[in-house]
Formats: sequence, C-alpha cells, structure tokens
Amino acid sequence: MSELNAPLDIYKLLEGSNCRECGEATCLAFAAAVFRGQRLLSECPRLSPEVLEKYGDQTGESKKTIEEDMDRAMEEIRQRVRGVDLAEAAQRVGGHYNGRSLTVKVLGKNFRVQADGSLSADIHVNPWVSIPVLDHIINGRGTPPSGKWIPFRELSQGRTWQGLFEQRCEKPLKKIADTYTGLFEDMLEVFSGRQIEKHFDSDVSIVLWPLPRVPLLVCYWKPEEGMDSSLHLFFDRTVEDNLSINSIFSIGSGLVRMFELLAVKHEGRDRTYF
Ligand code: SF4
Repeated sequence: MSELNAPLDIYKLLEGSNCRECGEATCLAFAAAVFRGQRLLSECPRLSPEVLEKYGDQTGESKKTIEEDMDRAMEEIRQRVRGVDLAEAAQRVGGHYNGRSLTVKVLGKNFRVQADGSLSADIHVNPWVSIPVLDHIINGRGTPPSGKWIPFRELSQGRTWQGLFEQRCEKPLKKIADTYTGLFEDMLEVFSGRQIEKHFDSDVSIVLWPLPRVPLLVCYWKPEEGMDSSLHLFFDRTVEDNLSINSIFSIGSGLVRMFELLAVKHEGRDRTYF
C-alpha cells in the first residue's frame, strides 16, 4: 500500500468538489482530518474503488499523527545539523558563532544550536518553527532580502500549496486578528516586529523576522461596509533561496500556533508565555 505523508498527498486523491457529503466543509478539511488520524479515507463516498484499494485506510493502519511526524522530522534534521560547520553557517544566515554554538535571531529572540544538534531558545518555539530554522541553517543560501514583496502563490510551487497555505496560515491568523485585538501590538512588542508604511492599502502592515534573512509582511484589512476583514502574508522575493517551500509553509503554520497560544494566554491575562 502506498504511503500518504502529507495532507496535500491526501488532498490530491480527492475530487476537490467540496460537496460536503463527508460532513467536512471542504475536501481540504477532510484531507487534514485524515492526516490527523481523525477520519478514514474511505469516509469520502466519492473516492474511486481503485484509489481506495491503492491507499486503503491509511489512518486505520498507520495511526500516524502530525505530531508524531513532526517529532520524527525534528530528530532527523537534528542529526543532519551535526555535520554542519556552524561558524560558516553563522555567517551565511546572519547569526553569531561563539566557538560552541550558533545563535540566530528567531522573531527577535535568541535561538541557539549546538554542534551536537541540541537546541535552546529564549522563546517557546514549536517544531513547526524549529524545523525550518534548522533547514535554513543547513541549506539556506543566505541571500539578503531584496525589499520586494510577493504573495505566497507567486512562489515557484506556490500555486500547488496555495489552498493549504490559506487554510492553515492566512485564515487562522485573520481569525486571531479579528478576535484578539492585541495581536498586532504583540507582534510589534513581543516579536520585535516593525510597522511599515501601509502596503496594498492595508490598515495594518507589520514586518516580522522569523529569521534574519527571511522577513515576513503581515497585511490586515479591517472589515468595512458589509465587507469581511482580510489578512495576507507576503514574502521577500528571495525567500526561496533561503527556505524550501515546505519550510515556508511550516514556518507560517508554526507562527499561527504561537499566536494562537499567545491569544489564549492573553485572554487569561497571563503573558508569561515568553
Ligand atoms: S465527500 Fe469527498 S469530495 Fe465531497 S467534500 Fe468530502 S472529501 Fe471532498
């Protein structure tokens, strides 16, 4: 039986009609639920018998969860860091090497990598963020930002991932921005963001630095006159020199999780998250 290793692999098998017969709002939501182990592939009534025979009930047999996948990916990439010249990598990625560890700023906070692959940070980072940071240290070319912003769909494989990126990154972040009024303030204060001249007529334009060579522009348009709000993320034109498309997607998902946690903590008036 063939392996399905990502939500997108599952999504590609589906009809894409968003017919809702499975009870999910979209095929993408169904694919994500299958990947998380919450639904069985066979619960889509529109799958052909050939596809079912080929892929079977992945969730029933593998019981693989996203978290297990991330843990495995984290361990693999830490092993790969052990072969990296950290002094050279520090220069390339805009970090600092002190003879023992490489320190790089992640959202303005210190993130340290030892030669044995162990990590420590002044910020609570989840594997969705740590893995792309390590990928950047291993593979990033270190190209400086150009100052030219492009949307996710204009990346070389952006169109393939666009739907998933919207579902997992832009829409959840918009929801946080709509309900948690302190989000942009915290982006500036807690995550060392910088407010810039408004881009694309947005009401809020903030640049964050997930990595020194990888800026991220967050643009938010407030709701007005019956129009819903919207939020979009923009990347520097050089981003693919520094991160793979998987890592760009992962870092977006990881940031959303961090902001969600911050919003929840803030609701409880507890801002000791960092
Ligand atoms: S039933 Fe199948 S085709 Fe219809 S929305 Fe669900 S996953 Fe998509």
